[in-house]
Amino acid sequence: MADLEVRTKLLEELAPEHVTLVAVSKKKPVADIAALYDAGQRDFGENYVQELTEKQTQLPADIHWHFIGHLQANKVKYISPFVYLIHAVDSYKLLEEINKQALKNNRVIDVLLQVYIANEDTKFGLDEKELNEFLGNYETNSAGLQNVRICGLMGMATNTEDEQQIHAEYAKLNGLFIALSNTTFAGRSYFNTCSMGMSADYKIAIAEGSTMVRIGSMLFGRRMY
Ligand SMILES: *Cc1c(COP(=O)(O)O)cnc(C)c1O
Repeated sequence: MADLEVRTKLLEELAPEHVTLVAVSKKKPVADIAALYDAGQRDFGENYVQELTEKQTQLPADIHWHFIGHLQANKVKYISPFVYLIHAVDSYKLLEEINKQALKNNRVIDVLLQVYIANEDTKFGLDEKELNEFLGNYETNSAGLQNVRICGLMGMATNTEDEQQIHAEYAKLNGLFIALSNTTFAGRSYFNTCSMGMSADYKIAIAEGSTMVRIGSMLFGRRMY
């Protein structure tokens, strides 16, 4: 069940900080999404292409669908007609494919670059060196990539009880975000999103400068796999 009261409280907490709430609805039924939609929620996040495309057709067209999972290049075409923001771009090949599919759909698709900040083997993303290479490559070739906009960065902290570590990881991501806002992407007013923070660590993420949190279990209850 979607928790409307939790959403209200969350929005109150986020509003003064100007943080966007993405309700992560993966593995949750359409009825739960509809309940939050009726309460005014418009931004929803999904991790799996097939699950997202199935839900999208059953729900109102003005939902902002965020794709927050690991995206394979060969699946971009299924979500490119409608996706609002792709959070986890972690390869140049994927960026090129998103551009290609956006062009086919005669639209511009906004993306974030996923940066690897955690101290775990299981998380995807670019390390700092790869991020710089990626952006160098982009600066050189951006004339051919008019149908994607790089709007910021996304990251996931280590799943740990150690709050100092989570602070440090999110501080690192926000540092990269601020540096890019001030340098490489200067003048591009759309480089404005630092997506970090989940149910367990969103308060820390906000303290460290998050502009967008991705909250699932706090709103929808625990996921059953
Ligand atoms: C599932 C997921 C979330 C939400 O996690 P919760 O702990 O349920 O809030 C956020 N971001 C990503 C990338 C996810 O895969």
